[in-house]
Amino acid sequence: MQLYNSLTKTKDEFVPHEPGKVSMYTCGPTVYHFAHIGNLRTYIMEDILDRYLRYAGYEVTRVMNITDVGHLTSDADTGEDKMLKGAKREKKTVMEIAKFYTDKFFEDCKMLNIRRPEVVEPATSCIDEFIKVIESLIEKDFAYEAGGNIYFDTSKLDQYYKFHNFEEEDLAVGVREGVEADGNKRNKADFVLWFTKSKFDDQELKWDSPWGIGYPGWHIECSCISMKHLGEHLDIHCGGIDNAFPHHTNEIAQSEAYLGHKWCNWWVHVLHLNTNSGKMSKSKGEFLTVSLLTEKGYDPMVYRFFCLQSHYRKSLVFSWENMDNAKVAYNKLIARIAALKEEGEVDAAAFEELKAGFVKALDNDLNTSLAVTAIYDVLKAKTNDATKRALLADFDRVLCLNLLENAAKLNAEKEAPAETVKSDDPFVAWIEEQIEARKNAKKEKNYAEADRIRAELLEKGVTLIDTKEGTTYQIG
Ligand code: AMP
Ligand code: ZN
Repeated sequence: MQLYNSLTKTKDEFVPHEPGKVSMYTCGPTVYHFAHIGNLRTYIMEDILDRYLRYAGYEVTRVMNITDVGHLTSDADTGEDKMLKGAKREKKTVMEIAKFYTDKFFEDCKMLNIRRPEVVEPATSCIDEFIKVIESLIEKDFAYEAGGNIYFDTSKLDQYYKFHNFEEEDLAVGVREGVEADGNKRNKADFVLWFTKSKFDDQELKWDSPWGIGYPGWHIECSCISMKHLGEHLDIHCGGIDNAFPHHTNEIAQSEAYLGHKWCNWWVHVLHLNTNSGKMSKSKGEFLTVSLLTEKGYDPMVYRFFCLQSHYRKSLVFSWENMDNAKVAYNKLIARIAALKEEGEVDAAAFEELKAGFVKALDNDLNTSLAVTAIYDVLKAKTNDATKRALLADFDRVLCLNLLENAAKLNAEKEAPAETVKSDDPFVAWIEEQIEARKNAKKEKNYAEADRIRAELLEKGVTLIDTKEGTTYQIG
């Protein structure tokens, strides 16, 4: 498999450290608020990588942290702790909001068919590991104490900026406009490993340490949690593109200084989901969550489908119009699958040939949009329905779009008498409401309204069929 590596900036043949086994680390959520659908784009694409590696026969062990301490409002060691900010907003304790939003995050993941990693570890449960690694970094002279905090000394490295060709003068952590420079740092790029002195006296969670009572910096948690569960050699580390600097750059600095050798071979970064007005955020504009999508009548699978239609290394623009298009396309696809008969024998040769197209797409740096095209190739192929159904079930081990499940649901709904069906699928429920409204309009001889409803349904890909028994419909 060819997989783009942010370290080499090329697509390289993926070779794990140990044959047949893959260790994979994912930066988890900062649990101070709901995840927005931008965050979830990253987790969906990482899920595809995880599932495709398993599909390709690797034994994958995946670890994710939960950031419940240390992530400041600026990634550059300044600002308030995001968790504390969340706790104040909701008048709860930090641990209460950590629990609440961790649970909500995994509920969102479940709705989007995102697998839960084997290990999920909150930062607050690894304080001893952080202290051990920081002590070793001080001993090795890679870290120093200044003004009560412990800093990583980036001048001790041959190359600090692993992903970018930054010059220190061009990009200085902590001295962005409007941010006060930290006078304790020996070099502008140095970063905090442990805080004992922060501007925020009300930091709720603090622990005893050899340097006084304090709390860890954000970056150290991912290095330590990864090494704790996955050892000294990590195959793949992933996260959203904003994590490449400073977070992942700092992770590499401290992990390799601690280990004395190269730590992680592959760095996979997912580009952002943006809105028409720019970067998606939790504080400005409409806060886009999975619950909001379902409230507005979109099956979470429509959002997964929308994400898979574009490549993870391209930024993606969210708009309600784009979601409507994805919904129509997804519903049409499900309707076509629902029309496949459950009969016949799988034709092994046709199966292998069509599967090869799917594998080729994902082997090429996880080209999910071509993998989706491979579904349509199956539907168009000159082979029997049993082979087509078997292929769709096989592809859905990776894509997880509930293809056959939703097709079966659609068939069951079509068979059930109209009055008794109250579909869980918001789109189907909406269609049924429209059919009822049209029936009433006709009764009242309001034919203009009846025609308007028919036209609106047609625009959404739904064709009404009037029969003696009543009105049925066809999607696609
Ligand atoms: P956070 O909860 O802020 O720590 O972020 C969780 C994950 O979402 C990280 O991997 C981020 O890099 C990623 N992320 C943040 N914003 C976006 C976005 N707009 N689109 C895609 N991924 C994002
Ligand atoms: Zn991380």
